[in-house]
Amino acid sequence: MSGITSEPFIPFSRTSIGEEEIREVVDTLRSGWLTTGPRTAKFEAEFAAYVGAPHALAVNSCTAALHLALRALGLKSGDEVITTPLTFCATVNTILEVGATPVLADIGGDGNLDPKSVEARITDRTRAVVPVHLGGLACEMEPLWRLAARHGLKVVEDAAHAVGTHYRGFPIGAGLPAEGMRSDAVAYSFYATKNLTTGEGGMVTTHDQGMLEKMRVLSLHGIDKDAWNRYAEKGKWFYEVVDVGYKYNLSDIQSAIGLHQLRKQEEFVRRRTRIAQIYSRAFADIEEVEVPPQATNGRHCWHLYILRLNTHRLTMNRDEFVEELRRRGIGTSVHFIPIPMHPAYKEWAGLPQNHCPRAMALYPRIVSLPLYPSMMEREVERVTDAVREIVRRARRGRARYRGAAAS
Ligand SMILES: *Cc1c(COP(=O)(O)O)cnc(C)c1O
Repeated sequence: MSGITSEPFIPFSRTSIGEEEIREVVDTLRSGWLTTGPRTAKFEAEFAAYVGAPHALAVNSCTAALHLALRALGLKSGDEVITTPLTFCATVNTILEVGATPVLADIGGDGNLDPKSVEARITDRTRAVVPVHLGGLACEMEPLWRLAARHGLKVVEDAAHAVGTHYRGFPIGAGLPAEGMRSDAVAYSFYATKNLTTGEGGMVTTHDQGMLEKMRVLSLHGIDKDAWNRYAEKGKWFYEVVDVGYKYNLSDIQSAIGLHQLRKQEEFVRRRTRIAQIYSRAFADIEEVEVPPQATNGRHCWHLYILRLNTHRLTMNRDEFVEELRRRGIGTSVHFIPIPMHPAYKEWAGLPQNHCPRAMALYPRIVSLPLYPSMMEREVERVTDAVREIVRRARRGRARYRGAAAS
């Protein structure tokens, strides 16, 4: 190892799986019911209650959740869907998968979709908006919902980072208690590195029963289970495929994990918030970095701590900064490589209507620091010490100051 520390490596992400999760998985295995069943039904009900949505459908990823929502809304070839360039590829892949055209709008100072940029990109082909709550910081949803109402657009929230995030006093998924102030569907991720995990998994919530039913049918091959009831005389073996669907259901083994993760989520959010506060306090007086924006519209769930480097004040770039942290035994990540930078998207994302200068300018400045409930005080301190030390060595002003002092 080419590090400069003998201390153990602090990974970027670490799961918090307890005995409760392990016991529930073992119980599930012993129960004989492994696929979607009673534990998934329970997980759906408890998750819906947690996010304040009337309906929840458990699926095997957030990607599946996004795909089902877009399919159930009837999006198709020729439709335009506006989303952010600062997101994971799954957000645009699912738009492309239903045959629609992604349109990128630029971000605001918070790193989330800027409603003004969204408005500027609405055409007569725009059908939907897919905002992403980057790192767990809620998008300013109200202007987006107003735009959607005015232009007849659907809204599907990519809440992969936002289990535990609140917007204006309500969890993401609940919407606001006012006419039109909610989304058509909200998609969550339980991937291994997310702030609530089932290893792989996801959930999609909605306030619309019809939408739930469409997504449920599409999530299981397009099989209409009600056929069992309609043709009861045929017996339990009968079913009808009423749409061309997918295999997106979540297993009871995964739901067993999710049930207990969900019950700990409030405590997880508290611990993440505490660490984020320690980071922000430790970096507040360093001009070479900018701490991530606080929530001004609700509760940040602190899925990610995205530090912004003021690279013009540093003698090193972000990639070198990442390498310096790694040499000190600290893992990091970058959220995200902007969509236009991926070869698969170049053709459409490079078009002038997708030009997002603010996202492109932010990208070379961002680095996500380790942040998870099981981080120990000593680990948090090692991260803050390392950032401060790297910055001290790479401070541009220092060289200038020395020069000035010598003259
Ligand atoms: C992780 C992630 C997804 C995909 O989640 P999966 O559960 O892995 O499919 C989608 N959008 C964003 C913003 C993500 O970070």
